[in-house]
Formats: sequence, structure tokens, C-alpha cells
Amino acid sequence: MTAPASRPLSKFANEPVSTFASADARQAAHAALEKVRKQFAHEHQLWIAGAHHKTGDLLNSVNPSRPSEIVGRHHRATVALATRAIEDAHAYFDEYRKTTAAQRIEWAARVAALLRDHKLEFDAWLVSEAGKTWPEADADVSEAIDFCEYYARQMQHYATPPQLVQMPGERDEMVYLPLGAGIIIPPWNFPLAIMTGMSVAALVAGNTIVIKPSSETPTIAAKFVEILREAGFPPRSFHLCTGSGSTVGDTLVEHPKTRFVSFTGSRDVGLRINELAAKPRKGQIWIKRVVAEMGGKDAIIVDREADIESAATGVVQSAYGYQGQKCSACSRAIVDEKVYDQFLEKVKAKVAALSVGPSENPENYMGPVISDSARKTILNYIETGKREGRLVAGGGAADGDGYFIQPTVIADVDSKARIFQEEIFGPVLAVTKAKDFDHALALANDTEYGLTGAVYSNNPEKIRQARDEFFVGNLYINRKCTGAMVGSHPFGGFNMSGTDSKAGGPDYLLQFLQPKSIGEKL
Ligand code: NAP
Repeated sequence: MTAPASRPLSKFANEPVSTFASADARQAAHAALEKVRKQFAHEHQLWIAGAHHKTGDLLNSVNPSRPSEIVGRHHRATVALATRAIEDAHAYFDEYRKTTAAQRIEWAARVAALLRDHKLEFDAWLVSEAGKTWPEADADVSEAIDFCEYYARQMQHYATPPQLVQMPGERDEMVYLPLGAGIIIPPWNFPLAIMTGMSVAALVAGNTIVIKPSSETPTIAAKFVEILREAGFPPRSFHLCTGSGSTVGDTLVEHPKTRFVSFTGSRDVGLRINELAAKPRKGQIWIKRVVAEMGGKDAIIVDREADIESAATGVVQSAYGYQGQKCSACSRAIVDEKVYDQFLEKVKAKVAALSVGPSENPENYMGPVISDSARKTILNYIETGKREGRLVAGGGAADGDGYFIQPTVIADVDSKARIFQEEIFGPVLAVTKAKDFDHALALANDTEYGLTGAVYSNNPEKIRQARDEFFVGNLYINRKCTGAMVGSHPFGGFNMSGTDSKAGGPDYLLQFLQPKSIGEKL
């Protein structure tokens, strides 16, 4: 790959997402898949201290639509290599922080340009390794491009010192400095977008990084690291440390030279990282900064004064897009008793029309869940749900060799039920009856999470009340609760959903910067 020249930074605009509806688009997708399949089972090395490394301890990543198919074979880092990665990232930071913001912005824009040039190939990797359908894969790649473009522009903003009140006889200013060497720990569910967003934000702000990718999607990480190199980021500014969270991850988080950890994933892992990072180690001279974006138990409220058809469509899209494996997925529909039966009938009919099967087939609305263990966990929750409520649709595995699960609806679920309270992370929707709008809001807030939520109502007073009282980081009115767009819907949650860093928003780069005040007597 040769890096195309980056475009001058114009006004930010979101990258278009393909629906793959046309025959031409489907043919192009097919060709991209064929190209990518030729690289299946390729051996990928670690990238540490500006060089490739092999350990011989290989992790196989598989196609969840066809688990006998190996997508990539990855050398796992040892503890010694992980230590070397963070120590080299720390050592190189002093040189990297002196690169100009303009240069780093240029590299970030080149990453966007390269991803754009290879969009269909990345789509095909996401279809193959993460089990995304084509439109979901394309949305993931588009979001990755958006993050690069958006953070490049944000860095232009922070590179210009803000206007301060000037003390008489002084020149007073504040400049934004990078933090140091940080660890980037993304989840598998947006394996390109979230990894790109966290990595490029840190790099463009002047930090060096060690990426610890998810063990479910290491091939996408290896491909992304190729793009970072191609775009021109210095070889020692980023390191790829594939390996298990519990060994490589802990080593990186605990190391005294780690300055920050940028994590997106589950509540339990996020809390563990936060705890490990809080303990100062020998030789450590800072408090590690932890940005942890975690899980959700997202609700959509359907009011008696709502357009029920549109609400049912929004709930079904939010609950079953990418098999319910989005942190923003709707896993609870809270419905006013006056429209409850009508809503359920509509949802049932819409769910019956959803096709489940291999994600590369554009006819399928839903592909597989990510792994065999995820499938087992989700099926266990479905069995629990059958005891906790009334099964309305789905209820088990779907046909096929892959990790397929039927879109499942369980009605009449009590707010204390496990399937109402715990993040399932699969295609399972709990439906609960509310007496009125106040009750619906109380039920929606009856969770330890606070990521996304939506309200369907045509009553302006109820909408105002939801704006005030629905305690979520991302609230949507009369639309689905998934599909946050960079620049328009800065993303992050309250409570156990995380540190609310608002990815894709104007404040996000501050997570990776520290302001320094300078007052000079004239
Ligand atoms: P996960 O199991 O928490 O894993 C996330 C990442 O953490 C993976 O790279 C994992 O590596 C790593 N990890 C595991 N244990 C670790 C440790 N002890 N130290 C350091 N790293 C460790 O989450 P997931 O299953 O990948 O992703 C799904 C979760 O992410 C859901 O809860 C979802 O809601 C959440 N999520 C949140 C957001 C948001 O913006 N709030 C966005 C997307 C997803 P291994 O794979 O090697 O274990």
C-alpha cells in the first residue's frame, strides 16, 4: 500500500455508510471478500519497539459464521515482550512528544485516507472475523474514518493556546501537553472503530501507545497497525501486543511507566483495570489516568402517546442490529400498559421477518454472535428469561454451523429479574409493562448502568421530563438508541457504564492531554 496524500482539513463531515442494496455494491463486496479470504490463516507477528516479533505461541482467530475457518494466526506476546513494549513506548515518548501537532494531524488524516481507500477490504475483515453483516461492517469502518478526521480537527483546536485573562505586567498562557505512554485496550464489538478512535486520539495528541487488542479480533488489529505504519506514524510511537487480557493486559496496566489506560469493554474488566491502575508501583511518579468505557443495559420507553409502529421498528433495530452485541443495544423495552399488547404484536411480527445466518450473505439481517462461549452465556440467559417472563419470539440457537442465535423476545419481565438487570450482550429483548410515564422512567433508571436510552412519545411535556430525568449519557428521542455518529452524538455513559469520556465529541482529546499554565513577568 502506498499512502495517498492527505486532504487539507475541511469542515468535518461523516463518512457515508453503504447499505449494500445495489447489485454493484454486492458484487464489489464479494470481490473484497475473495481478496481477504486469500489472506486467511496468515501468520501475524507482534509489532514492538519498531520491529516484528514472533513467539511461536499462536492464537487462532476464527470466523464466527463458520468456526472451522481460521481467519488469522497471531503470535501471543510474552510478559517480557509486553514489558519491552511499554518500556520502549515510554523511552520513545520524549522524542515523539516533540513532533509538531501539524505533523501528527497529517498522519491521522492519512490513516483516514488509507482506511477509505481500503474500506471494502476492512469491511470484509469485519464480516469474517467479527461476524458483522456488510452494512454493520461498513458503519464500523466509516466510524473509524470519522474518528481520525474528527480528532485531527480537534487537535488543531488544542494546538492553539486558549485566551486567558492577562495579569498586569505578565504574559499568561496555557498549553496542552501529551501525557506519556498509554495502553489502548479495545473490545471486539467495534474492533476497528473503537481501536482506531482510542489509538488515533492518543497519538494525535502526542502520546505513544501500546495496543492490546481483543483476543477475538486480532487480525483487524494487525491490519490497522499496518495502516498506522503506512500513514507515517513513527515505528516506535505505536506497539501491538496481542495476548490474553489477564497476562499481557495486567502486565501493561500495572507497569510503572504506563501513564494512562484507555479501555473500552465490560464492566468487570474495566473495574479491575481501574483498581490495578490505582495502585502505585515502585518507580512510578504519577497517578495513572484511566478512561474506562463499559457496558450498558439500555432501555427504550414507549409511551401511550407514541407512534407505535415507529417505536417497534426502532426497538427491533436497536435490539437485534449486530445481534444485540452493541453497548448501546436496546435490551429493555419499557412500554405503557395502554399500548403494551399492540406494541408486542408489532415487535413479534418484525422479529419473525429477521433472517439469521452467515454474515457474508447480504440477505441476512443478523449474523453469528462472536464466540462459542458468548453463545453459551446468551443461551443460558434465554433459559433464565423463560423462567422470568413469557417467551414471545425466538428462544434458542438458530440453524447453521456458526454461533447463531434466534432473535428472542421475552415479555412481562419484572424489573428485579436478572434479564432486566444484567448485560446479556446478545439478541435478547426484555419487555416490561409500565403503569404510566413516571413509572416507565423509574423502571428505565432502575439499573446500575447509564449508557444509552430512547423515548418514543409525541407529548412535548413527557419529552422534556425525559431530558431531565432519564439518567443516561446518550439520550435519543423518537429514534433508535444505537447508531451514535461522530461529531453529533458524543458517546459515553454514566454510572457503571464508565467514565463518560464522550468519544467523538469536542472534549475527548482532553483525556490524552494535560494543560500547563505559564505566567511570565514582563
Ligand atoms: P471485555 O471482555 O471486557 O474485553 C475488553 C478488552 O479488555 C479486550 O481487549 C480484552 O482482552 C481486555 N482484557 C480482558 N481482561 C483484561 C485485563 N485483566 N487487563 C487488561 N485487559 C483485559 O469486553 P468485550 O467482551 O471485548 O466487549 C464487550 C463489552 O464492551 C460489553 O460489556 C460492552 O457493553 C462493552 N462496550 C462498551 C462500549 C462503550 O463505549 N461504553 C463500547 C463497546 C463495547 P482479551 O480479549 O484478550 O480478554
